[in-house]
Amino acid sequence: MANHLFDALFAPLAGRGSDFLILPDGRRISGDAFFHLVGQMAGALRGLGLAKGDRIAVQVGKSPEGLAIYGAAVALGAVFLPLNTAYTPDEVAYFLGDATPRVFVCDGAKAQALAAVAAQAGARLVALNGDGTGELADLAAGASEEAAVACGPDDLAAILYTSGTTGRSKGAMLTQRNLLSNADVLLREWRFTGRDVLLHALPIFHTHGLFVASNVVLLSGAAMIWLPGFEAGAVLRHLPQATVMMGVPTFYTRLLDEPGLTRDLVGHMRLFVSGSAPLLAETHVAWKARTGHRILERYGMTETNMNTSNPYEGERRAGTVGFPLPGVDLRIMAEGREVAPEEVGMIEVRGPNVFAGYWQMPEKTREELRADGWFITGDLGKRDADGYVHIVGRAKDLVITGGYNVYPKEVELLLDEVPGVAESAVIGVPHPDFGEAVFAVLVPQKGAALDAGQALAAISDRLARFKQPKAAVVVESLPRNTMGKVQKNLLREAYKGWFV
Ligand code: ATP
Ligand code: MG
Repeated sequence: MANHLFDALFAPLAGRGSDFLILPDGRRISGDAFFHLVGQMAGALRGLGLAKGDRIAVQVGKSPEGLAIYGAAVALGAVFLPLNTAYTPDEVAYFLGDATPRVFVCDGAKAQALAAVAAQAGARLVALNGDGTGELADLAAGASEEAAVACGPDDLAAILYTSGTTGRSKGAMLTQRNLLSNADVLLREWRFTGRDVLLHALPIFHTHGLFVASNVVLLSGAAMIWLPGFEAGAVLRHLPQATVMMGVPTFYTRLLDEPGLTRDLVGHMRLFVSGSAPLLAETHVAWKARTGHRILERYGMTETNMNTSNPYEGERRAGTVGFPLPGVDLRIMAEGREVAPEEVGMIEVRGPNVFAGYWQMPEKTREELRADGWFITGDLGKRDADGYVHIVGRAKDLVITGGYNVYPKEVELLLDEVPGVAESAVIGVPHPDFGEAVFAVLVPQKGAALDAGQALAAISDRLARFKQPKAAVVVESLPRNTMGKVQKNLLREAYKGWFV
C-alpha cells in the first residue's frame, strides 16, 4: 500500500547492506538492519494499540531505537510528537494534555515520575532508555514486522512543538507533504548523495536534527554518525569520517575554541550548515579563516521546515540566510504591501512546506496563517539589493521607545564590535517616560575587563540618540535554550524593574 512519506524515506533502506548509522562505540547499523528495526518497532506499537491518526508522544534520549520510533510512526500513519528531553513532568503534563496521545514513550528512569501524567492524559506509558534498552525495545525484539499502512500527502505526520522562545510552545501540525517536499528540495540544493556521511550531534526532538538532518539523509541514501549530543572533543574525533555537518551557531563557536580544529582536520569536508539561531558574521569569518570553509546559513522554523538557504555554489553571504528555496514563496510586508529592497518588514512564506495549522488552536492559526496560504512568520527581515534575505529579529523583540522602532540587531551588531565585547543582547524594558527603553546586556570576551558605560559611549556617535541603550549590564553569559536561542523573555523579566 502506498505511504507517501514511508515509501520515500524508509522503504529504500530494505536490503541496503551499507551503513546507515555509525555509533560512537564503533557499532554500525546497516540500512537493512534499521529497516527491520522500524518494522518491528511498528509491530510493537501496533500491539500497544497505536493506529492511524493516533498521536505518539516521545521523550527519550537519542538512540537508533528512538529514531526507529519516528519511522514506525510514519509506517503506521500515526502522528509523531517528540518532546524536549529537558521538559519536567509538569511541562510534559501540558503537552500530553494538549495532544492526548495514545502512547507515551519515556526514559525508564522517569517512568515513575511520569506515570500519573500519562494516566491523566489517557496515554499508555512505555519505557525506552537513552541506551536503546527498555520495555519498548523488548516488545520490538519480540514483535513481528508491521507493514506500512496507506497514507497520502495530506495525512498528518507529526505535531512538532515550537521551541517556546517567545511564549508557550505551540504544536505545529505537519503533513507528509510538508516533510517530504522540504527534504527533497534540501537534498537537491545541498547536493546530498548516497556517498555522504552526516555528522549528527543535534537533538532529534527539534526540526533541525529530526527533519532537516535525518530526512535529507534518509531520502538521499546517505549515512549518519549518530552522536548522543554535542561535545566538542567527540565531534573533532568524528569529523574525519564525515562529509557534512549541520549545527546550531553554538556548535561553531565552541569548535572555534578548540585548538584541534584545523584546516587539515576538515579539508575533506563538503559542507557545514548552520541554522536555528543567527550565526554571527564574525563566526562565519573566523570559521573561513581557520578551516577554509564558508558555513552555509539557512533559515527555517518548526511551522515551515526550511524557507531560505545560502547558495551551495555562489556567494554564501555572512549575516544573511540566502534566498528562498525553490517552491517556497517569500515576501516582506509592511502596512499591507510588499516593501522595497533594504526596507524592513514582516517575513511571510507560502509553499508545500508550510504547516497545516496549530494543533487545537484555531484562533492562533487564523491569526498567523492566511486563508490564501501565506504564513506570517513573526520574524522581521529585509532583502538586500542582491536578493539575499536578512533576518533582523523577531517582531516580539522589537523595541518601541518614545514611539520609535528600534531593531535590537542593529544595536547588537555595533555593540559586538566594541573591544572586549564577546556578544550582546538588546531588549526593551519598561520606562516611565518612553514606554520602553533600549537596554543592553553585554558578555565580555574571555579575560577582558568590560565597563558597561564605556561600551555604550563607544557606540554613541554611530547611532541615533533614540536607538542608544539607556543602560547596560555586564553578565557572564546569555541565557540560551537547547537550540542555542537567546531567551530574551528571561532577560526582559530579569531587568523589567530597572527604570520603574
Ligand atoms: P516559539 O515560536 O515557540 O517562540 P521558536 O520560534 O524559537 O519558538 P523554532 O521554530 O524552533 O521555535 O525556531 C524558529 C525561529 O528560529 C525562527 O522564527 C527564527 O526566529 C529563528 N531562526 C531560525 N534560523 C535562523 C537563522 N538562520 N537566523 C536567525 N534566526 C533564525
Ligand atoms: Mg516561532
